[in-house]
Amino acid sequence: MIQDLKIITVIGSGTMGNGICHVFAQNGFTVHMMDINQVALDKAMATIGKNMDRQVAKGGLTEEAKNAAIGNITTYTDMAEAVKNADFVVEAATENIDLKLNIFRQLDQHCPPHCILASNTSSISITKIGSVTKRANKVIGMHFMNPVPVMKLVEVINGYATEAAVTQLVYQLSEKLGKVPCVANDYPGFIANRILMPMINEAIIALQEGVAGVAEIDTIMKLGMAHPMGPLQLADFIGLDTCLSIMNVLYHGFGNQKYAPATLLVNMVQAGCMGVKSGEGFYKYTAGSKDLVVSSMFASKEWK
Ligand code: NAD
Repeated sequence: MIQDLKIITVIGSGTMGNGICHVFAQNGFTVHMMDINQVALDKAMATIGKNMDRQVAKGGLTEEAKNAAIGNITTYTDMAEAVKNADFVVEAATENIDLKLNIFRQLDQHCPPHCILASNTSSISITKIGSVTKRANKVIGMHFMNPVPVMKLVEVINGYATEAAVTQLVYQLSEKLGKVPCVANDYPGFIANRILMPMINEAIIALQEGVAGVAEIDTIMKLGMAHPMGPLQLADFIGLDTCLSIMNVLYHGFGNQKYAPATLLVNMVQAGCMGVKSGEGFYKYTAGSKDLVVSSMFASKEWK
């Protein structure tokens, strides 16, 4: 029952993890935020504070509610400690299948038997993740969108063994967080990334072929298709490593050449260009600056 969910543990405190903690804490849940990296946890707490300050400034949150929400969050680097009393876990660690399978083996071992295990994975099979636990019926996809406090959608993904009651609970929980849940079945990329990521990959292929520059590709898609940001800026925002992982899941999952990741995407990730989180991708990000500056790698090739 939804009212039995009191303690929520979020595994991973990066781009998505901190946003997921933010919304649960703001909605009165006790949140255990766990990451193997203390620096990531400190950065996440700072980000949550900053984002809540923005909500206060806009009148969407009172100062008292902000302080109460921040007070609902405790940070952990030890997984067993973070999950031992958890009613519900959302895993939002790096998009890597071996890493996630390992996390779910450990979660199954350390979480109470009643605890539901959700993954925020963008593309990895929920059925596969469930198969390494002894509670595949309680394993489900709960795919939040970035930035979590702002975006309304939660894609709820049923694994092969996910119980209908668990799907219903996650549906209600998403609504309690003020989100709009949509249920999909477990196929590579589910719905959101099966459709979004090939578009981003195609934009990168167009760039590598010299069809147009970074600014031109993004402007065409923004003004021509009424997208709020262009596909290359969106790729930077998602993280190029995450985009590459998702393309690889689509490519291997469907066995179809049309999902092969762009060589330029592979090269950029290998070079450590991850987008916003590393400071450079298709654009260059300087702390405090709101200007969109095309990365020097591509600026000389801009078409004017
Ligand atoms: P990220 O790289 O920003 O953060 C990942 C975090 O996981 C890091 O802080 C890392 O230290 C931590 N981590 C790694 N191994 C861990 C472990 N064993 N235990 C605990 N923490 C661990 O990644 P992200 O963008 O936040 O993505 C997280 C998940 O959310 C991925 O599955 C991704 O596909 C999914 N997702 C991402 C987006 C997006 O726009 N970035 C959107 C929806 C879903």
